[in-house]
Amino acid sequence: MSIQEIRLFGDPVLTTPALDVVDFDKELRTLVADLTETMIQAPGVGLAAPQIGVGLRVFVWDVDDALGHLINPSLDLSPELQDGEEGCLSFPALSYQTPRAFRAVAKGFNMYGEAITVEGTELLARCLQHETDHLNGIVFIDRLSQDDRKLAMKEIRESDWFNTAKSSGKEPTIKVSPHDLLGRGL
Ligand code: ZN
Repeated sequence: MSIQEIRLFGDPVLTTPALDVVDFDKELRTLVADLTETMIQAPGVGLAAPQIGVGLRVFVWDVDDALGHLINPSLDLSPELQDGEEGCLSFPALSYQTPRAFRAVAKGFNMYGEAITVEGTELLARCLQHETDHLNGIVFIDRLSQDDRKLAMKEIRESDWFNTAKSSGKEPTIKVSPHDLLGRGL
């Protein structure tokens, strides 16, 4: 197991849809372990494989003192919505009121290839939606209203991490850890 570098907004891996996992092998279990360890160290509430540069449909979470992981997920969402602050480990120190479904039912597989269903409301539902979005190449600011997204883009362009990554011309990585994530890094 090892802690991986978290990719920041601007890295193309975050806007590229991930591929289904085909082999439920030792390599997959190492990926789940790396994601879990990296999320805990950040610290964050959830982390998806593309955020560590791996284009596979895998994510992990740590919500209400319960660790979980899900592979090749599909989501059913409630029509009721929830409001709340949401952040992302790939957007250090930023968070925005992000509308999400109140309840989510996620179907997929565990790392041994067994079919599992995860059902959550509130933060777990928010996390399942946020991480599944990552697997589809969608980042949370895409879920904001047009005005809020404009405001977010302005803050991102002014942030140190975005400009450091841009001027270095390299793949952006977190330079300092932990960041203030307001407890909602996903
Ligand atoms: Zn995220």
